[in-house]
Amino acid sequence: MVERLISLKYLNPHITCNICKGYLIDATTVTECLHTFCKSCLVKHLEERNTCPSCHLIIHQSHPLNYIAYDRTMQDIVYKLVPNLQLNEQKREREFYRKRGLPYPKANSNSYSNSNDKDVYKYQNESNTNEENSDYHRSDEQVNILLESQSGCNLKQMKRKYIRCSSHATVTHLKKFVAKKLFNNFEKYKEIDILCNDELLGKDHTLKFVWVTRWRYKDPPLRLSYRPKIDF
Ligand SMILES: [Zn+2]
Ligand SMILES: [Zn+2]
Repeated sequence: MVERLISLKYLNPHITCNICKGYLIDATTVTECLHTFCKSCLVKHLEERNTCPSCHLIIHQSHPLNYIAYDRTMQDIVYKLVPNLQLNEQKREREFYRKRGLPYPKANSNSYSNSNDKDVYKYQNESNTNEENSDYHRSDEQVNILLESQSGCNLKQMKRKYIRCSSHATVTHLKKFVAKKLFNNFEKYKEIDILCNDELLGKDHTLKFVWVTRWRYKDPPLRLSYRPKIDF
């Protein structure tokens, strides 16, 4: 394996906030354009405006705050790349609360980077309550899905309609799952369509993308249906 030394100078543009120009703290990403900022910087910005500070995309006319998400992966990268940032930030936060005589809200969480996840990924929160320890993809976000045969089509229902899988899984993965269950043959996945709200889903969409774009305001599980492929 070849190890390369990369100067922080080259990485800095990717791990700094375009608003405060400091290293990202509570990295929070606009789900529409994937630009990342400090949570506090972005929230402050969106109290006045509805556009992304980097690319000026209109995030949402009236509720831009619903289209941002805590980005644990990015924050972990920043903390790994910038020694002492996490420690200094924790010190600074504790000091902030101590000066104001307030309890430190993160006192009970031993890992700083996990502390904000649950309020952002509500669906993850929902899905983690049951099988917390039996999940092989625990580190992935999970999505609960109700997967049914589209009414009126000639494909039968599966025995287990409720499934739970990584949000990184794609629509193609689901098609293969259905093909395996219905025909005992993965290869037949190309003969299946998957739909959400009766809208055909692209094969490369991840379940996270489907959730964020099609099911954001609805309760879990994410309801999907399958039918024989229709060629247009
Ligand atoms: Zn910032
Ligand atoms: Zn943007």
